[in-house]
Amino acid sequence: MKLPTTCDGWATRVSAFVKAATELQNLPRFPIRIGPVAQEYARNIFPKEPITLVQGARFDGKFEGALIPSPQKAGEWGIFYNAGITSRGRINFSLAHEFGHYLLHRHLSGDPIYCSRSDMWEWDSEYGRMETEANRFASMILMPPDDFRVQTAEFRRPSISQFEQLRDRYEVSITAAILKWLDMTPRRAMLVVSNNGFIDWSRSSPALFKSGVFFRAKQVTTPLPEQALANLGASAGVTEIMHPAGVWNLREPVFESVMFDEYHDLALSLLIYPADGPSRWASCEDDDSQLMDTFEAFLR
Ligand SMILES: [Zn+2]
Repeated sequence: MKLPTTCDGWATRVSAFVKAATELQNLPRFPIRIGPVAQEYARNIFPKEPITLVQGARFDGKFEGALIPSPQKAGEWGIFYNAGITSRGRINFSLAHEFGHYLLHRHLSGDPIYCSRSDMWEWDSEYGRMETEANRFASMILMPPDDFRVQTAEFRRPSISQFEQLRDRYEVSITAAILKWLDMTPRRAMLVVSNNGFIDWSRSSPALFKSGVFFRAKQVTTPLPEQALANLGASAGVTEIMHPAGVWNLREPVFESVMFDEYHDLALSLLIYPADGPSRWASCEDDDSQLMDTFEAFLR
């Protein structure tokens, strides 16, 4: 049988394998614990290149996961996750990401592939194409779109706490579940990840991006709005708020919900904007220096 060459192709193939295996053993469909799946799949499809080791490693805190060829036995591979992480969701997502590298990229150089925390967030970068592919594979395997659509059908104005049920159902990171939802939703929404009062990175849903609302990329230092909930920290005990216009956006009210416990040093803010953005032409005179204009981005 011809082997897939794309991340979507591999995700479809491995999903069918997982479905058949769980039905045969009468197991629930979710969560898909990818460690044993990866080993079983590699042994069946690539008997000369099996994944013989899935385990935690120290990495000195530098990496989230790695795919490494065995130094002792030619052809064998090991998949590693950061043993310092206790979140089962982050570990499972990292393993699926590394399994994606195994299927798609292990022959590119044959060298070990080490992946940082920020590599797990690359979803649309040409520069980080390999990382984007590994994440897309992991997301499709662990959160199949058919089921994900059903689970999020009632998400009208979701708060970040609603994503905890997805994290538990699929055993993924909250971040991965939110990024997938942002990819699929027709809503205007954004995830903002911040560190000590400054935006580390953010992602807008396609609908919000099209209406011209997104933050400049990492090279520009952007402080959080003063009244952002993310500024208050976990001890404030407030996890969601409806901000009036003038806080996150000059012209629009924004619903913000926050979470502080996925990463020890980062705050996650989920922002939900009104369904319809203000008219682009009415906003020409506003001086909203933090927001980049879509037209400006288009010209670059
Ligand atoms: Zn990677």
